Amino acid sequence: MPTHPTPHGERPHARGRLNQPPPDTATDFPTIAAAREAARSCRRCPLWHDATQTVFGEGLDHPEIVFVGEQPGDQEDLAGRPFVGPAGRLLDAVLDDASIDRAKVYVTNAVKHFKFEPRGKRRIHSKPNAGEIRACRWWLEKELALTVPKLVVALGATAAHALLGEVVSVTQLRGQTVYRSDGLRVFVTIHPSFILRLPEEVDKRAERARFLEDMRAVARMMAA
Ligand code: SF4
Repeated sequence: MPTHPTPHGERPHARGRLNQPPPDTATDFPTIAAAREAARSCRRCPLWHDATQTVFGEGLDHPEIVFVGEQPGDQEDLAGRPFVGPAGRLLDAVLDDASIDRAKVYVTNAVKHFKFEPRGKRRIHSKPNAGEIRACRWWLEKELALTVPKLVVALGATAAHALLGEVVSVTQLRGQTVYRSDGLRVFVTIHPSFILRLPEEVDKRAERARFLEDMRAVARMMAA
């Protein structure tokens, strides 16, 4: 299906199935703080059992941009805060380079408990499955209903899946803005952990530069 650039250079995605209404967008919580508190005892899927704690989103209550990652990592699980590990530090650096103030956004994850496999003393990241993404989407939609951002940035495939309600190809949608039927704009890009996992320094540098270009496109959209 073709897409058409908007005056701001965005390309709205026209595939109908991506525009299904998100589930349960109403919120019973008066504030993000109330939702965060309630999520501490969430048992909507089994992931709470082995994780240290719920890692809810944080940032401005009413930001222009919400960034959505996959799930907390080892350091986030222990700290109880999103994007404080290596991927978060890389995100901070790239946002800084793109002149996006991290203090003026809201950052969260599609899934709010750390899923891992124990390997000796280490806890190895394990990708959340579709059922876990669906279960935790309930919280993500509460966050979006409460924060009412102008733009949501999907960092990676799990975030895009949660935000758009189906599995999508980040390779195909990267750099595009998808419009949901509720009017929410979702900009799709990679998760910064993808850059960290690349074995070659030269590839890391190239992918960081591409990611920076994506973040500069986000900054331009906010300035338009
Ligand atoms: S991952 Fe999400 S849905 Fe599952 S228990 Fe944790 S907060 Fe609840």
